[in-house]
Amino acid sequence: MPELSLAQLLRPELRELSAYSPDTGSYAVRLDANEAPDLLSPAARARLAEVAARTAWNRYPDPRARKLRAAIAARSAVSEDEVLVGVGSDEVISLLLTVLCQPRGRTTVPTLLTTTPTFVMYKLSAKVRGQRVLEVPLDADWDISVPAMTRALSMAPPNLVFVASPNNPTGTQPDPARLDEIIEAAAGALVVIDEAYADYAARRHIDLYRKHENVALLRTLSKVGFAALRLGWLIGRPELVAELDKARLPYNVATPTQELATVVLEELSGELARVTSHVMAERERVSQALAALPGVEPTPSEANFIWLSTPLPAERVFEGLKARGVLVRSFHQRGGRLAHRLRVTIGTREQNDAFLAALGDELSR
Ligand code: PMP
Repeated sequence: MPELSLAQLLRPELRELSAYSPDTGSYAVRLDANEAPDLLSPAARARLAEVAARTAWNRYPDPRARKLRAAIAARSAVSEDEVLVGVGSDEVISLLLTVLCQPRGRTTVPTLLTTTPTFVMYKLSAKVRGQRVLEVPLDADWDISVPAMTRALSMAPPNLVFVASPNNPTGTQPDPARLDEIIEAAAGALVVIDEAYADYAARRHIDLYRKHENVALLRTLSKVGFAALRLGWLIGRPELVAELDKARLPYNVATPTQELATVVLEELSGELARVTSHVMAERERVSQALAALPGVEPTPSEANFIWLSTPLPAERVFEGLKARGVLVRSFHQRGGRLAHRLRVTIGTREQNDAFLAALGDELSR
């Protein structure tokens, strides 16, 4: 039988990585993945079912996703050739890294510059592609440090700079003047502002996109109630979209997703508004309740989750909550200032109350 030595074929960097594996156990209260609570009305559900029932199952999807891209373009007041759709923003992130990978300056590997802590897929996706990743720590207020970022920019000119605003897991948005400064300093690199949580935030960044040629934006339906569709998109210059299109798999976004996402964007804005206003009101209520617990400090959030400090090691609190049927996110393995931090997604009122009660019990144990 012919033998296969995977090790000989594998990119060595892969060996040190582990696959992204969310906890798939069953918990009474799941507040770990920044999904939105299920508040979909029966009428909206019926409308989606009606559209899904008309799917031409035997046909490939529209390879250009024209209807969906038109709906996105109309919503963001850009043209259709400035929109690229993907299987979640995750796919768009990997596509950017795949395409914009010509090493710059005297470097021999393409470089990604990002902050830490931030969304892990930037780093994971770059590492999988054998790229160099520079992670610049956020400052004490979880904002971008301009001196540290400019130092990193001068050390090695990056291909891509990823900045999430609001940031995951901190829920914070970078100071606008600082962000502007970073974009100027990063000239030559594409700065991707990831707006996955923008629907819950004070600031959007379309103005930065219009002002700076080296800015692109990322959006998703995952955080506003439609994670199941797996739809994300990029807003970028038509020249960039055209290049990404060459590497994009032709039928990446399935027909049901194209059709249903178009309905979500064109007809269900009232449903989305209901989700965001519920979450923002609950975010305020949960933040206040957290602040009243001894030793707990919630960071003011612009997203659909709260980043909080715990008086006990985060690992202990995380495990304690889990034993009580409440799943949140902990980053304790990374140590340092994350060892006393948890991230909790805002859910329904009942889920939030269950979390608060479990946390209260756990801390007074
Ligand atoms: N960007 C950020 C900042 C995120 O937190 C997430 C999801 N955790 C994503 C992108 C990925 O979203 P999608 O479901 O669209 O792939």
